Amino acid sequence: MIVKKAEFVISAVKPAQYPDDALPEFALAGRSNVGKSSLINCLVRRKNLARTSSKPGKTQTINFYRVNDLLYFADVPGYGFARVPKSVRAAWGKMMETYLTGRETLKAVIQVVDVRHPPTSDDQNMYHFLKHYKIPVIVVATKADKISKGKWQKHVKVTREGLQMVKGDPLVLFSAETSYGKDDLWGEIESRIGV
Ligand code: GDP
Repeated sequence: MIVKKAEFVISAVKPAQYPDDALPEFALAGRSNVGKSSLINCLVRRKNLARTSSKPGKTQTINFYRVNDLLYFADVPGYGFARVPKSVRAAWGKMMETYLTGRETLKAVIQVVDVRHPPTSDDQNMYHFLKHYKIPVIVVATKADKISKGKWQKHVKVTREGLQMVKGDPLVLFSAETSYGKDDLWGEIESRIGV
């Protein structure tokens, strides 16, 4: 995909605020600080479209980005941040469930995990949630540049096994630092919207 146009559209907290022009949509889900914003910026070749921050758990809105007037990326709030109050976590869960189970234009969730570490229980819960609701998932194992190439396959295997990934579900090894895996990921996205 050659990205000619990428724009932030809205930060939404409820369905009435979601874009309603029916373009296909891909949600980015992952633990806080896993690298979702960096991944979006890398895909659209913009330094700062999605805000990257080292302060986890900040974003509690769903941020929509329109790309080439063709599709949306929906950056959903990161999960698994231990220090947020229970009430915030409950609100997060409700908003996520509403969005993920109700969004008709959602083509797939891009679930971002850190390839350096085995998936956390939050990662496992998210994957199983998506399988339960039959929402297509593309797992992206990011920060590949932080481990040596020789270890990549071992770490990919640990990720697949840790999530108990269904055979046939794609896993893309990725690095926002080097853009490794970018074409593969665009390929996965394009194949789901018939481009
Ligand atoms: P988010 O909270 O999931 O949106 O995470 P960010 O995109 O803000 O990234 C969190 C931190 O990880 C930042 O310091 C990024 O620079 C760093 N980061 C993200 N992706 C990569 C990657 O692929 N490689 C490396 N080396 N660092 C990354």
